[in-house]
Amino acid sequence: MDRYEVVIIGAGPAGLTAATYLGRYRRRVLILDSGRSRAAWIPQSHNTPGFPRGVGGPALLENLSQQASLYGAQRRQARARRLTRMADGFEILIDTAQGEVTIQAQFVLLATGVVDRLPDLAEIEAAIGAARVRMCPICDAYEAIDQRIAVLGEGDLGAREAAFLTTYSSDVTLLHLGATETLSDLASLSAHKVRVEPIALADLSVGSERVRLSSPGAPVQDFDCLYLALGCEMQSRLAVQWGAAHDDQANLIVNSHQETSIEGLYAAGDVVRGLNQIAVAAAEAAIAATDIHKRLRARDAQAQARL
Ligand SMILES: Cc1cc2nc3c(=O)[nH]c(=O)nc-3n(C[C@H](O)[C@H](O)[C@H](O)COP(=O)(O)OP(=O)(O)OC[C@H]3O[C@@H](n4cnc5c(N)ncnc54)[C@H](O)[C@@H]3O)c2cc1C
Repeated sequence: MDRYEVVIIGAGPAGLTAATYLGRYRRRVLILDSGRSRAAWIPQSHNTPGFPRGVGGPALLENLSQQASLYGAQRRQARARRLTRMADGFEILIDTAQGEVTIQAQFVLLATGVVDRLPDLAEIEAAIGAARVRMCPICDAYEAIDQRIAVLGEGDLGAREAAFLTTYSSDVTLLHLGATETLSDLASLSAHKVRVEPIALADLSVGSERVRLSSPGAPVQDFDCLYLALGCEMQSRLAVQWGAAHDDQANLIVNSHQETSIEGLYAAGDVVRGLNQIAVAAAEAAIAATDIHKRLRARDAQAQARL
């Protein structure tokens, strides 16, 4: 059975940054990657440190990937299905193209991120690629200054995002799926001068060129961009199923070294409670990797002393 010092589950900014650190600490590291990092959606990021003219998500991932492999991190296209705590580490059951395989690790870093809930709209992927539809006001509201902004929501998350966006534009409309009575703070939306419209999803169309609302009996409305505020699914099941501490959204709760409440299991990036940002993912990864290395050094010293 393959045994690693560290297995990193997830190849987004958090997992790849941790792999670079651990590779440079000369650790035997494997990254498991089951598919699309959230960062792959990013057309152009303007708040990622060190890129004053912006960087596309795929290009950033490619750079992070090259950096990790430069320092020896191995990578495997596989989905981690089950994690089991052993006396001196973990067993990880993975699904590969060749079938199920079990591997072992002394420490595991979960960097599995979140998956955004997307509305069932034709051309949604093209619209995201063109930044016509967006998912993260903290990331790119600056690029929407003075635009006609719509927010698609289904509850208070949409209301909070719409209010946040009024820093950037005086023309913000909350397109609410279902009755607006479910919104707990209509007064605050009115104070922020956010228009609120109950809509049916079927009346909304998006594409790379436009966002259009065509409600029956009402004038057609076009918006410059649409923010989705439909929430996301935390990819924390591998830890939560063993009782790892988490909040009511299933975000993992970690200590100051990024260790979850399960000994030896670390977490970094969007899967951890906090701000879902590339800079945060990278910082958490650096902290986790350095603590794991420190503990492996202590184990190395104990093993030497026994010789
Ligand atoms: C449209 C859009 C624009 C954004 N713009 C910005 C921006 O400008 N600035 C910014 O800071 N942030 C931005 N973000 C947020 C940023 O993309 C995330 O904060 C960042 O990708 C989080 O990194 P991560 O490594 O935690 O997770 P992810 O990047 O989501 O990576 C998680 C990885 O784990 C893998 N995985 C999950 N489960 C398993 C499993 N069981 N086994 C194996 N692999 C698994 C996934 O396939 C994925 O590759 C944006 C997000 C979106 C959607």
